[in-house]
Order: sequence, then C-alpha cells, then structure tokens
Amino acid sequence: MNKLLFEKLIAQTSDAPISLEISHSDGVFIYTTDGERYLDFISGIAVSSLGHNHPKVIEALHKQIDKHLHVMVYGEFIQKPQLDFAELLLGQLPEKLEQIYLVNSGTEANEGALKLAKKYTGKSKLVAFKNSYHGDTQGSLSVTGRDVYRDPYLPLLPNVYFAEFNSFDALDLIDETTAAVILEPIQGEGGIIPSDIEWLKSIRKKCDETGALLIFDEIQSGFGRTGNLFVFQHYGVTPDILCIAKAMGGGMPIGGFISSKDIFQTFKFNPPLNHVTTFGGHPVSCAAAHANLKELLEGNYLERAKEIEKFIKAKLKRKGIIEVRGFGAMLGLELESKTLTAHVVQECFKKGILLGWTLHSDTLIRLAPPLIITDEQLDFVCDSILEEIDNFTKI
Ligand code: PMP
Repeated sequence: MNKLLFEKLIAQTSDAPISLEISHSDGVFIYTTDGERYLDFISGIAVSSLGHNHPKVIEALHKQIDKHLHVMVYGEFIQKPQLDFAELLLGQLPEKLEQIYLVNSGTEANEGALKLAKKYTGKSKLVAFKNSYHGDTQGSLSVTGRDVYRDPYLPLLPNVYFAEFNSFDALDLIDETTAAVILEPIQGEGGIIPSDIEWLKSIRKKCDETGALLIFDEIQSGFGRTGNLFVFQHYGVTPDILCIAKAMGGGMPIGGFISSKDIFQTFKFNPPLNHVTTFGGHPVSCAAAHANLKELLEGNYLERAKEIEKFIKAKLKRKGIIEVRGFGAMLGLELESKTLTAHVVQECFKKGILLGWTLHSDTLIRLAPPLIITDEQLDFVCDSILEEIDNFTKI
C-alpha cells in the first residue's frame, strides 16, 4: 500500500529503489514495518558512523529542540551549538584550518569551496579528477568526473579540466590561472581508490607554486571512517579548504567547509553577503554534530575503524575476490564480475544484510559498517559474503 504511495508521490531517482519501509533504527540495525531487521553495512552511505540513533546524539537533539530551532539566516546571530561544534572540531585540525562555514549538505560544502577559491584567487580554472564524485548540484557536478552523469546537463561550469586520479600528468594542468584543485583523498563513488602519497604531496607542492587552492572533499571519508578523524591526517598533506558532511551530524543534515581566516575574509566584501544560506548551521543539526564529535573523540571509534579494516581484509580472501581496498571502515570489495557482485548483494540482502554499490563501479561492493559493529556481526557478514561467492561459483 505505502509502496504504491511512495512510487506515486515521491519523485524517483531510479527504477529499482530498495523500497524498505522503515519503522525505526537502532545501532547497526534498521527495522521495517513488516517486522524485518537489516544489518546496515553501509551506514546509510557513510553517515551513521556511531550507529543509528546514538543516545548521546538523541539527548543533544532533545535539549536543543526545547531551546530554539531556526532563529536567523546563517552568520548573523551567535548560536551556542555552532560555537560548541566549531571549537571542538577546529581544535583537532591544523592551524590554517581555523574557521568553518556551515551548510546543509555535502554538495553545498563543495559549491561554497569552489566559490571561495574563485573569489580568493580571482581566477576561474578548476582542476578535478576522473571518476570523482562531488555532488549533484551544478557546480559540484561540473567537477565530477563521470561523463554519463554530466552529459545530460551540459553546458556546466566552463574552464574545468580533468586529470587521471593518481597520475602525475595532473601536475601539467595546474598553472598560474588555476583557482583550485579539488579531489577526494580517497575516492568514494569512484570505487574506494586511495591516493598515492607521493602524488598527493606533488599536487600540494604544485598548488603552492602556482597559488592554486587545494580543496579536499572528505565528505565521505571524514569523521573517523578511515581510522583517522580525516584521511588527510593519514597522508600528512593539508588542504587549503576541507569539505565535510555526511557523518558530521550523527544522522542530521549538515555540512561545512573549513579554511583560513585570511581566505574566508573574501566572503565579507565586494559585495558583503555574497555567500549566504538560510538554514546552514542549523542549531539542531549543530547540537547533534557536537554530541556526535564529542562521542567520536572520547570513545575508541578510530581504533575500532582500524580493527574493522584488519578483520575484513584478513577474512575476505577467496577465489572470485580481486581485492579489498581502502582504509578503516571505508572499504571496497572488488569482485571478479558484475553478475557475481549483483548475486552477493542480492543474496546478502535476503539474509538481512544491507550492502551496496558505489555510483561509478558495478564490480565493487561498498563495505562501510557503523564503527560500533561487533566482531560477531562482522563475522556474520563476512561469512555470508564468502558463502554467496561459493554459491555463485557453483551455479
Ligand atoms: N562528495 C562526496 C565525496 C560524496 O561521497 C558525496 C555523497 N555521496 C557528496 C560529495 C555529496 O554529498 P551530499 O549528497 O550530501 O550532497
């Protein structure tokens, strides 16, 4: 009944939505109205890193809701939840990442970062990477490296150049006319592809030489998923602008871009208010983000992410598996064929396990469990995947 309404009333983005009808969620589990329980091994696509409905996040939400909701557009009033969150987060980051501009989503963070880089440098050329994913609004789509998603919307932003990810040829594209280079230090939708450390350092160096700003999109890799708060800390390469969202709000919608005070000055003048948002930094989302980050820093989540990586990489070895790559709980399981991948995802679903693809690859299964997952639950999922690989090879 509700499936019919869902298809009738809610604009669809695919002709095969999963269509689970949600009753509630708790920890690693999502429960449906027909009494089924699913182990969420994709964390709502890298969002629910502390599990669904973390009690600390829920408590912070209740407290803030009783105080106030929206009071004014971004940047005019002093709102404690914004300050609490910003102070805690920025205290974890290198000195030059000293201010945050709060938005509502990942793509808005990237939009803001691209505008900021153009305004600060006074230049317009953007360098981006093949197979990247930065969001579906027009600016973010302009730097997303998959033609199949871009072509229906051309023309997009001009003066955008794409290089192969991890190829030193990219250096030739970065010059004195470049406003920004935008990249995911570990490509998510492109198939969980970590950057090569020497390559990343050389991009940083070329940006410094030419005056281009380096933007890291850590919307998917941020907030502990890789075993570091952010994966750039693992590489030791600091961006000029860091874009964040997804797991930031503990299940609430929020995003942000972080840079230096000097770079952000540019948003204040010529004209004033040249980048504003009504709901960005919503106090309720900020209260959730603060509680989420506090818990992430106080608990042993980062260590747990590293253990999850070790566990899964040790266990998932079998004919049919090409590799497991990535860091922490941001892993990709590359299988031999598209049909095997589809079989494993579908059959695990029947066993109550939510797995998923990445947008740009059909032979890769995304492994991105909440960081609270237990060894027993990891065992269950890995055994189920191995069993289905075996079953497929028998067919
Ligand atoms: N950048 C990256 C790396 C992402 O993975 C995503 C979402 N998958 C986005 C940007 C866009 O974020 P949102 O869906 O919140 O706009």
